[in-house]
Amino acid sequence: MELNQIIFALIVIAIILIFFIIIQKIRKSVLKNEKENLRIKLAKTKNSFLSKIAEIIKLCGKVDEALLQDLEEMLIQADVGIQASSDIIDKLRKEIKLNQISQTAEIQKYLEEIIRKLLLEDYSKESDHLKLTTKKPFVILFAGVNGVGKTTTIGKLAKRFTDQGKTVIMIAADTFRAAAIEQLTIWAERAGAEIMRQQHGADPSAVVYDGITSAIKKQIDVVMIDTAGRQHTKVNLMNELSKIVRTIKKIVPEAPHETLLVVDATTGQNALAQAEIFDKATKLSGIVLTKLDGTAKGGIVIAIKHQLKIPIKLIGVGETNEDLRDFDVNEFVEAIFE
Ligand code: GDP
Ligand code: MG
Repeated sequence: MELNQIIFALIVIAIILIFFIIIQKIRKSVLKNEKENLRIKLAKTKNSFLSKIAEIIKLCGKVDEALLQDLEEMLIQADVGIQASSDIIDKLRKEIKLNQISQTAEIQKYLEEIIRKLLLEDYSKESDHLKLTTKKPFVILFAGVNGVGKTTTIGKLAKRFTDQGKTVIMIAADTFRAAAIEQLTIWAERAGAEIMRQQHGADPSAVVYDGITSAIKKQIDVVMIDTAGRQHTKVNLMNELSKIVRTIKKIVPEAPHETLLVVDATTGQNALAQAEIFDKATKLSGIVLTKLDGTAKGGIVIAIKHQLKIPIKLIGVGETNEDLRDFDVNEFVEAIFE
């Protein structure tokens, strides 16, 4: 090989290396921005934990039972729930005894670790996230009471999927309100997704039937079904949901591949009660916890984990497309404690 050929080869290698390093740097800074972003979105919850803990520690001045009781009260106020709060403080009490902690400055570290452990118990990055499989169509059913953010979540997800090159059809099975059909149509247009809709008052199961049949015929990748959150009675609502599930199964027996309950974080312990009721009517595969940006009571995340066997798969931290995120326990704990 001649000298100038070697030099040329070296230059090419150097350029490739530099290119690689730049790409890595950009990737890292994007990841860092996303984390920062989550911190800002969860600022209210962070305040209700971090500042309150600091305040309590300062007021109490020493590690004793009064301090523990104040911390328990703080957790309850942040919506961690009575059972989970009492459990967390029991664990803290044991740690204090075991490690003979007398410095108040150490308390926060232990509390954070106990909460992190609780959230990470049985947590799997794989099955606790929303992942499309090769099943076609992949059917996702959304349930939840009125106003929690079902339609918004479907809209945000549709954009995520179409950006990934998937084809999406939304089914407007909330036929209870005319406005709900219109709202879903707007989201479908924004995301470049298809929509199956009928007139207001139509039988939701009939719309679902048409939507899934059409998805199969057109070989659509993802089907998302928006359901009503209001009915004349709760029994009616649950019956309607069961009927929708039966209709789905008639066409695709192993579907729905995901049944997601959408709950609003600002409603606090009510979210827990809703999850229990809906889970009885139709087995839930995950929870979407919305409006975490609007509340100081992000402790509901801990209550849900402590009380229910249903993973939080997605969180909503605002109204734009970027504000729907995969729920990541470590990121969440860091956002509220660090
Ligand atoms: P649905 O009745 O369950 O379909 O609820 P919608 O999707 O219509 O949402 C009700 C309201 O909540 C709308 O004004 C949404 O913009 C708002 N919303 C939904 N998700 C979030 C969220 O994560 N954060 C905030 N701040 N608002 C949200
Ligand atoms: Mg809706």
